Amino acid sequence: MQPTESYPMAKDRNYDYIIAGAGAAGLSLVWNIMQRKELRDRRVLLVDRSLEPLRDKTWCFWDDSHVPFRDLIHHTWETLAVRFPDAQFSETLKTYRYHCVRSDDYAGKILEMARECPNVTLLEADIDGFEFKSGDSEEPPLSGRSDRSDEILASGKSSGSVENRAYGESGGSVENRASVENRAYGESGGSEISSTIDETNISDKKGTAVMHSSVGTFTAGHIFQSALRPPGFHQLKLDLSLLQHFTGWHIRTERDVFDPGTAMFMDFDVPQDNGVTFVYVLPFSKRDALVEYTLFSPEIISDEAYRQGLEEYIEQRCGLAPGSYEIEYTEKGVIPMEDRRYPARYCRNVWNMGTMGGLTKPSTGYTFTRIQHHTAAIAEALSRGKNPPEKIMSPYRFRVYDMLLLYNLHRDPETSVTIFRELFRNNRFDRILRFLEEHTRFDQDLRIMASVPWMPFFRALYGMKHRVLTGA
Ligand SMILES: Cc1cc2nc3c(=O)[nH]c(=O)nc-3n(C[C@H](O)[C@H](O)[C@H](O)COP(=O)(O)OP(=O)(O)OC[C@H]3O[C@@H](n4cnc5c(N)ncnc54)[C@H](O)[C@@H]3O)c2cc1C
Repeated sequence: MQPTESYPMAKDRNYDYIIAGAGAAGLSLVWNIMQRKELRDRRVLLVDRSLEPLRDKTWCFWDDSHVPFRDLIHHTWETLAVRFPDAQFSETLKTYRYHCVRSDDYAGKILEMARECPNVTLLEADIDGFEFKSGDSEEPPLSGRSDRSDEILASGKSSGSVENRAYGESGGSVENRASVENRAYGESGGSEISSTIDETNISDKKGTAVMHSSVGTFTAGHIFQSALRPPGFHQLKLDLSLLQHFTGWHIRTERDVFDPGTAMFMDFDVPQDNGVTFVYVLPFSKRDALVEYTLFSPEIISDEAYRQGLEEYIEQRCGLAPGSYEIEYTEKGVIPMEDRRYPARYCRNVWNMGTMGGLTKPSTGYTFTRIQHHTAAIAEALSRGKNPPEKIMSPYRFRVYDMLLLYNLHRDPETSVTIFRELFRNNRFDRILRFLEEHTRFDQDLRIMASVPWMPFFRALYGMKHRVLTGA
């Protein structure tokens, strides 16, 4: 890829921080860095294959404590509804609100700020891979956990070329203001992001993080990456793997159809032939809404099956025959729902973020709020001269809950719908959202668990005992 006219080649090859990937995670991190006066003199390179703000995702969330620019929130719903074949519940939220942000608004605003910030450089390039280059010739150039074959797989390059570029181009004197002490990888324990900022001072040990790209090699004290799968990805322990896959239509109608105050969180009253299936409806006004046909299943379905699911739903629920509404925009997505434990680092000094950091909650697919907390914690740590958080996974007990629900979603879709029904029948929505946000206490978790059929969870506990007993 050649640099475009709007994003000319970054002249400087060395930065304090490289942010590789300008999606939800990269944008949130650059925003957090720009907010911190302690970091205003740090030189930041933000890289993506395209820095054109794209409308390709609608991010919904309910914990808005860390969200940049509340004015970027596109719509907020106070009432949520859920529907099952034999029951329907709706509730006006007390503590939370359900919000959505459009990816083009988010990218547009943050990139505009970044362009005006003198210490941030924007670069359009394909990212090929990362590595750690030690300043000490005695040390091996890569961390012990780095998996070259996977790195090459992720980058699509041959091993030889990466090696050559690593040693051929990135030499010379490297500014090392913020390099991280080369500690061994450790499995993360069970603490929350906010409480796990590593208190070790950022060391000045020689060594630098290297990014290989289509326009050459760049170095930094730290690289924060959300573009490539971490090395060894396919070797990470994996028992349960589902996909949350969906196609959504933003439709416009000529008559009033929707209630813009109520979001349909999950409508399970649809055929369940291909896995756990529900429709999600976000009305923005009486005449336009995003309607998303969503499945939790091991395989995605054909475009035709999504189209049929959407058309049938819109006709039966909204009384709109195909052709009587305009499809303004189509959103498609596949989100991993799995029990893989992603490493915090790609290799020394290169930190994983976002989906590539394993921030997706396995049982729901929600990631956006977790990205906000994680990137705020990174900027906070950097501004205090500390290492970025080493532990980014959920606490142990929430990993176990996720695993048990995922087990049921995988093995028994029908029972899973019953579990959701009883969950919403017996709990206030705010409590469920708090639980999904992992902000409940253990006694509150127990009350929630007692409100749903427990046999499937005992079965899941037995089926997953090898993981539950080894740290989940
Ligand atoms: C359609 C959709 C809707 C979603 N809705 C929600 C939601 O409502 N709520 C929620 O909590 N989560 C949602 N998610 C899940 C999650 O929040 C998003 O996937 C989120 O965008 C993840 O952020 P990220 O930065 O990790 O990845 P991305 O936002 O995908 O960003 C990765 C960036 O890296 C760049 N990149 C990748 N490879 C390279 C390369 N080799 N070279 C250069 N650049 C590269 C890409 O261009 C991209 O800009 C949704 C996901 C999808 C797909």
